[in-house]
Amino acid sequence: MEQEKFNAGLEKLVGVIQDLSLARDLESIVDIVRRAARQLTGADGATFVLRDGERCYYVDEDAIAPLWKGKRFPLESCISGWAMIHCESVVIEDIYLDPRIPHDAYRATFVKSLAMVPIRKVAPIGSIGNYWKDVRNVTPQEIRLLELLANATSVAFENAKLFTSLQRQIKLRDEFISMASHELKTPMTPLLIQNYLLERKVTGNSSLDSDQLKKEVVRHVDASTKQITEVVSLVDNMLDASRLRLGRFSYDFKDDVSLVDAVVSVVDQFRASTKVSITIDIDPSIKGFWDRGRIEQIFRNLVSNAIRYGDSKPIEIYAKLLGDRVLISVKDYGIGIARADQERIFERFERAASSRSYGGMGLGLYIVRELVRAHGGSISISSEPGSGSLFEVNLPIRSQVDAVKIPKIRKAEPQLSSADDFILKPVF
Ligand code: ADP
Repeated sequence: MEQEKFNAGLEKLVGVIQDLSLARDLESIVDIVRRAARQLTGADGATFVLRDGERCYYVDEDAIAPLWKGKRFPLESCISGWAMIHCESVVIEDIYLDPRIPHDAYRATFVKSLAMVPIRKVAPIGSIGNYWKDVRNVTPQEIRLLELLANATSVAFENAKLFTSLQRQIKLRDEFISMASHELKTPMTPLLIQNYLLERKVTGNSSLDSDQLKKEVVRHVDASTKQITEVVSLVDNMLDASRLRLGRFSYDFKDDVSLVDAVVSVVDQFRASTKVSITIDIDPSIKGFWDRGRIEQIFRNLVSNAIRYGDSKPIEIYAKLLGDRVLISVKDYGIGIARADQERIFERFERAASSRSYGGMGLGLYIVRELVRAHGGSISISSEPGSGSLFEVNLPIRSQVDAVKIPKIRKAEPQLSSADDFILKPVF
């Protein structure tokens, strides 16, 4: 008899697995699983619980009367948490005889017996519960069916996560193509105008004498050069980002690279084109085993951001020696960055400011982070919207070149390790 019920359950499960294989988001998975969990065992109720940090989140249920939908309980004080912590299924014939059960939470419900299986046996991301209104001995076959459902749920989670991540990557790529085309085209219009005006002045019936004409030519050529430089630096950033990603970036580490010299040469380039005050306070004795060109590239990106997003307010660059490391700060008093954006802006193509008001491809900080890492350092940010941003680069004085070689094969996408990926971040 039990075997027959088990076989019927297996048949149902095949249909459920088919449905799960088509599920692309958390809501669909939860909906399929909460119903299936109840049908497979003929239980009076089923819950779908996800781990939310140190708490169990009762996401949804299918039951003869309300259970705990929408509630959160600490992991240690609920039976779903017990199943997740111990990575094993649990059956309780009479809940009022079991000390693991928070009896108060159950008194308002119909539940007398229960079974709980973790979703994934290693680092569970949640659990599936079954409940009965009468004291009942849950059979090993019923547990087996629930465990098979939990396995299928875990695979569906991974698929949905992969699907979401692929969708995001495709969206990012499409946005990037449109943003890159826009960014590359923007300097072209003034460039064309400069060339047109230049041609008119040189070939037209101008009343200018040769000295005046020369001055005008220089003015137009300077303006054109500025636009071309902008395009070249955009393309450079694109190429660098791609090389960094493919691990085809070369470094030229040398002894006694002077930090102040590198920063001053970067800032001097900006001073020629901005009126914003930039102060530098770096002890000339700070020297390191670094790649001077890459150090300049790091600060070129940080300073150009500080100018772009700095609301024309002063910018401060200062450094402090901390034993065998140096902490270099680039501080502005501009638009700032919301806390929610502070991590992702270091990823490729990620931007936080409105694209209407600010140009940019979202590559600068990615390049900075990778170059800093290649020197064995780290970068952090403190910022408040409206008050400005502080970027702090922490570099070892002697970069361990061997230890910091960029790997050819990039790290795989992080695995889904908790339900946080679904609940706490708006990925769906
Ligand atoms: P972008 O070319 O868009 O500036 P970045 O990778 O350099 O690319 O920066 C990513 C995003 O981080 C920017 O689009 C902007 O929203 C934000 N950002 C970077 N630096 C600052 C800063 N100093 N102040 C405010 N926002 C900044």
